[in-house]
Amino acid sequence: MDSEKLMARLRRGGYTLLHDSSDTSAKIVVINTCGFITEAKEESVNTILEFAEAKRRGDIEKLFVFGCLAERYKDDLRKEIEEVDEFFGVSSFDDILTAVGVPHVQAPAGERLLTTSGHYAYLKISEGCNRSCSYCAIPLIRGKHVSTPIEALVDEARLLAGKGVKELIAVAQDSTFYGVDIYGKRRLAALLGALSEVDGIEWIRLHYAYPSQFPADVIDVLRDNGKLCKYLDIPFQHVSNTVLKNMRRGVSRRQTYELIDKLRSRAPGIALRTTLMVGHPGEDETAFAELMDFVREVKFERLGVFTYSEEEGTYGATRFKDALSPEEKQQRANAVMKLQAEISASLNMEKVGKTFKVMLDRKEGSYYVGRTEFDSPEVDGEALITSDKPLSIGHFYNVKITSTDDFDLYGTAEKF
Ligand code: SF4
Repeated sequence: MDSEKLMARLRRGGYTLLHDSSDTSAKIVVINTCGFITEAKEESVNTILEFAEAKRRGDIEKLFVFGCLAERYKDDLRKEIEEVDEFFGVSSFDDILTAVGVPHVQAPAGERLLTTSGHYAYLKISEGCNRSCSYCAIPLIRGKHVSTPIEALVDEARLLAGKGVKELIAVAQDSTFYGVDIYGKRRLAALLGALSEVDGIEWIRLHYAYPSQFPADVIDVLRDNGKLCKYLDIPFQHVSNTVLKNMRRGVSRRQTYELIDKLRSRAPGIALRTTLMVGHPGEDETAFAELMDFVREVKFERLGVFTYSEEEGTYGATRFKDALSPEEKQQRANAVMKLQAEISASLNMEKVGKTFKVMLDRKEGSYYVGRTEFDSPEVDGEALITSDKPLSIGHFYNVKITSTDDFDLYGTAEKF
């Protein structure tokens, strides 16, 4: 979203924008970087090196880098990669525009140049985080939690809907904390209600809920508001009390199970997506076995796994020894994903013969590819659809599921 907002201002400044990095006709390259975990940092550095090489060859004229990685490591990067003309922090749009040579044009609040397919868009409802999870550098990079007021987000949603967006994906570092800083209390339920009244928005999806002090009124909105996808992304990270305490998550094993029961009993049919972390200090064989039992018992509809990596300046890096090798951590991650593949395959099988509303994202070969309300773009499964008649991307169709594999569904579009 930062890139999309910057691109809108560059376009207003008269530039032609290319989002596809394989398009070699660009003369000025601006790279947005991520510094969250080792893998993301490596990917960001590789992208910078790729374009540093392009600059050495004379293929591009200027190279600028901004975002989290640049915020954290700009002094080191400046020394190491001399081809970069300038590094900027996370909120330095005016400085980037100056460097690129664009007068300080302002875009209407919330204006973005969408890089998604056009029928769905991410909506960042707050920035920063007040928590202090042991492994996480985000509060060091992004600072304290700052919510965007409801009115501004509704305006942004209207702008997006006016461009054809039908699905809003609400994101934040800690979405359930929304509102505390500006309203003195949690107001996520009110925000979701207000967004659901925007004409043209048909689906709203919620990511990155935090398990501690989960606001009960959000569960009611997920159950009662027809525009809210019956979907919740709630990263639990672990279940062992020892590991949760080391992680400083502020939630126990018992509270974790209680919250999952509450979510599923108060909002029946909800698809829960979680993220887990393996290899955190304190995760001995017993704690890992506990985590595997948790995955086996809860049967999350969607699940992803990260391996722990020591992040400079974090509580974890200063207090704990990173005892497991990368191979051991990866083995644990693979074991979790193997188990989850079995769970997902069995949950998918229950969908065969049933009909679901599906949003079409794209066409790939002979299939139309779409998603049910239980799947978010890029991270979850997809529905691969056949149809006698041409279908329109960005539209909803009823799809009867005919077969499945571990993570995806196969089906045919019904009468429409
Ligand atoms: S809630 Fe998320 S962003 Fe905040 S410190 Fe924990 S892991 Fe990091």
